[in-house]
Amino acid sequence: MLLVRNIRLPLSCGEAEAIHKARKILHLPAGVSARCGVARLSVDARHGTPVLVYTIAVTLQDEGEESAYAGASPCVAVTRQPHFAFPVGGAALAHPPVVCGLGPAGLFAALLLAKKGYRPIVLERGPALEQRVLAVEHFEQTGELDKNANLQFGEGGAGTFSDGKLTTRVGDPLCAFVTQALLDHGAPADIAWRQKPHVGTDLLRGVITSIRQEIERLGGTVHFNTCLTGLRTENGRVAAAVTPAGEIPCERLILAVGHSARDTFAMLRRLELPMECKPFSVGVRVEHLQSEIDRSLYHAAAGHPALPKGEYQLSQHVGGRCVYTFCMCPGGRVVAAASEEGGVVTNGMSYHARDGQNANAAMVVSVDGRDFENDPARAVAFQRELEQAAYRAGSCLSPYAAPAETAGSFLEGRGKLELDRVRPTYPCGVVPCDLGSLLPGHLAETMRAGMRAFGRKLAAYRAADAVLTGLETRTSSPVRLLRGQSLQSLALEGLYPCGEGAGYAGGIMTAAVDGVRCAAALMAENAPAGD
Ligand SMILES: Cc1cc2nc3c(=O)[nH]c(=O)nc-3n(C[C@H](O)[C@H](O)[C@H](O)COP(=O)(O)OP(=O)(O)OC[C@H]3O[C@@H](n4cnc5c(N)ncnc54)[C@H](O)[C@@H]3O)c2cc1C
Repeated sequence: MLLVRNIRLPLSCGEAEAIHKARKILHLPAGVSARCGVARLSVDARHGTPVLVYTIAVTLQDEGEESAYAGASPCVAVTRQPHFAFPVGGAALAHPPVVCGLGPAGLFAALLLAKKGYRPIVLERGPALEQRVLAVEHFEQTGELDKNANLQFGEGGAGTFSDGKLTTRVGDPLCAFVTQALLDHGAPADIAWRQKPHVGTDLLRGVITSIRQEIERLGGTVHFNTCLTGLRTENGRVAAAVTPAGEIPCERLILAVGHSARDTFAMLRRLELPMECKPFSVGVRVEHLQSEIDRSLYHAAAGHPALPKGEYQLSQHVGGRCVYTFCMCPGGRVVAAASEEGGVVTNGMSYHARDGQNANAAMVVSVDGRDFENDPARAVAFQRELEQAAYRAGSCLSPYAAPAETAGSFLEGRGKLELDRVRPTYPCGVVPCDLGSLLPGHLAETMRAGMRAFGRKLAAYRAADAVLTGLETRTSSPVRLLRGQSLQSLALEGLYPCGEGAGYAGGIMTAAVDGVRCAAALMAENAPAGD
């Protein structure tokens, strides 16, 4: 793929003109067919009249010809598709490997294993996607939570109801493997070249089901509504996965249970598997009008039809902590992400079109092992206490209603929800509350200092009527399960702690990449079980 950067055009020009200019810069003859798309588009408003700045991705039918055009201009770069080889070890397994959890990490681990003939057995505590969607809708309408079918648990894991942003900073070549698999299963073509690829929760669901069906077609088995409740071990090695329906013998188990599997973490603690506290963050979801974010970012160019919905990421060091925004969902909505009874958890997502009125983002403050004497159990207990405090604050309205406050009030600690232009989108109802009072005082003060700093960086953060809904506690795993170079647990041979829950990923792409990595490490040691 060729990337043609820094194509500067007046606001009156759109994608077609940018592509035309890219072809001209490359000296691409009219007869050469190429797939062209916008990889990046920003606005430069520094010198009076704003101009559009495009990066155009150009893919030629014959990849080998691309390097001939790479020297056309200093603003042209060429990127190559990496080729993957996954070596297979000599020792044949006695049983198919077990993959526990069907979030992005488990899904991609199982996909690679299935493609290479390992016929993995997948255990997923929640239901298949269709039933899961019904359970989530029922929860939003009635406040009746299914502890195994919610925004965290069920086919696709936390990724299913996510925003489907695939942005990552890891730069691992395996990202290309994941992207190709998503494309093969129906993700929009532009995720191959966009700098900030976005699928959207609506399209992501079809992709997930299609990948699971391929795993099954290739000989894998998926057991829904089947929770891993224990591990049988023999001489320091995994011998079987324990479920309420009985044992499944296995020597290799990829554990990809996500950051919300607190009962599974407790089971692993009882088995004395080594784990440590991992930094994570807590805070609230902030909602602004999307149009106000666009104005803050694009200034006079806001509303231009060629421009994508405005996105931002802010951070500020305050004392020894970091206050930052993340998981920003342009045109999205706030969701109810609880998985335990009596606890409120917020998160955000958007559909592919990103056409909602509001933009939302998590605004959180970091905590780490020093806050919990490096005891993972205390870190989990802290998350749970915050979620329960949020539940109690909202329960005067209805179960799982969330406490909320407008930004001006939060900065002054007044506990008021002074609604004006921004309407909260959290689905189970909101109740006015002093959100700072639900957090430890020093964390609330740190967040306020961070938010004031954000206001100096992005005008929208000075709006007093932005809505804050809480609490946001499941930003990433509070726990890391220690693994060695072979990616197996330091204390249990054959167990591969994997993905976000094990502390090795943070987001869809990195979780999926870690799934591929664990499957590759397993394959490097063992050949598939014979018939
Ligand atoms: C609303 C929302 C929006 C998000 N938006 C984005 C986004 O836009 N971009 C992004 O990169 N990230 C996003 N994320 C985060 C992303 O979804 C996670 O980082 C990712 O899903 C982690 O993948 P995972 O496979 O490690 O774990 P998970 O996705 O959490 O999957 C774990 C799976 O294991 C199952 N499980 C748990 N315990 C057991 C057990 N004992 N036995 C059997 N099965 C078990 C669970 O049911 C679950 O299906 C979002 C998350 C949420 C909730």
